[in-house]
Amino acid sequence: MPADALKCKECSTTYPLEARFVCERCFGPLEVAYARPEEDPAALRRRIQAGPHTLWRYADFLPLEGPARSALPTGWTPLVKADRLAHVLGIGELYIKNETANPTHSFKDRVVSVALARAKELGFDTLACASTGNLANAVAAHAAAAGLPAYVLIPHDLEEQKVLATGSYGAQIVAVRGNYDDVNRLCTEVSGERPNWAFVNVNLRPYYAEGSKTLSFEVVEQLGWELPDRVVGPIASGSQFTKLARGFDEFIAAGLVEGSTPIMNGAQALGCSPVATAFAEGHDIVRPVKPDTIAKSLAIGNPADGPYAIELARRTGGSIDSVTDDEIRAGISLLAKTTGIFTETAGGVTIATLKKLAERGDIDRDERVVAMITGDGLKTLDAVRDTFEVAEIGASLDAFDARFAPQEVTV
Ligand SMILES: *Cc1c(COP(=O)(O)O)cnc(C)c1O
Ligand SMILES: [Zn+2]
Repeated sequence: MPADALKCKECSTTYPLEARFVCERCFGPLEVAYARPEEDPAALRRRIQAGPHTLWRYADFLPLEGPARSALPTGWTPLVKADRLAHVLGIGELYIKNETANPTHSFKDRVVSVALARAKELGFDTLACASTGNLANAVAAHAAAAGLPAYVLIPHDLEEQKVLATGSYGAQIVAVRGNYDDVNRLCTEVSGERPNWAFVNVNLRPYYAEGSKTLSFEVVEQLGWELPDRVVGPIASGSQFTKLARGFDEFIAAGLVEGSTPIMNGAQALGCSPVATAFAEGHDIVRPVKPDTIAKSLAIGNPADGPYAIELARRTGGSIDSVTDDEIRAGISLLAKTTGIFTETAGGVTIATLKKLAERGDIDRDERVVAMITGDGLKTLDAVRDTFEVAEIGASLDAFDARFAPQEVTV
């Protein structure tokens, strides 16, 4: 394991690789720091290529001591060249990273895989989380596969699809009367008094966050060991967005790929857009909001990594934009109709933002763009209800022909 310590993102104080997430000196967030040995990039690349078709092929870049394995294989999702969507938007080269192909149909399987593996190494016996929906699915499923009990705390008004799947895996669902930020606060309190519980995104958060880097590692490998020029991805807490860039940077530093950090564009729903607002106003401080959007998986009103997301977008020449609920629905539909990929509302946020960037002229014709589709449309069916017409007919040919007049064919 090349991981060296937990390090405060604000004051750089280091701590052992334990289950802790906040700096005792300055209350800043902790993240994993690595002491990577000098290594021939060709040898490292061969080792990756010989690895399993899961996120564990990148074990060299993950904070685990032992060999990593999971009962529910995760990652190595398709990178789909989206020529028809590119044409509609006037983009030269566009790819969709299709995270719906994960075991519980969202990118959260990655972060849970890494957090669970580390939780086992540290001796925890129960898995838990504060979730906006997809994390609940992933924690419940991975705990079931590992034979561990799970407690998932969610806001009481989540999509039924996400709740029903989570319960089926056997997790104890706790529906909290409040929003995600209330749930998160409660989890921090519970975590303090349940020392054997691994809250994947609270006390295990530094390990959890590392899982998102594997998305970028895969993109680089799937592009034939090249970098994209631009990445568009959604922001809830901002964890994934910032770690995407970290993934590219670590591959560059290891000599596995040449170039610089892609331009990073963050995407938020207007009904919960504290990071986009701060970006637009030129602030570094993110003012918390009360979420009200159909993109519930992104509905974090007080995003922990918001300031780092803003810094990243500025540093790479990107932006953080927000889109309305109607634009989100249109984004879901546009992606589905041009690629055959059905995404949940978070993916609608990404595609609507991509469209906005294209229309604004931000994207050069010769850029290679990757859009992150982080979750599955079957989880947010209400968003597409009544957006198209179903033709109901009697079970006869006449009825069919009456509804769909046969085409006159002239030869
Ligand atoms: C959790 C989630 C994200 C991003 O969450 P961050 O907290 O910003 O890492 C994006 N898309 C979906 C579908 C999610 O569930
Ligand atoms: Zn600190």
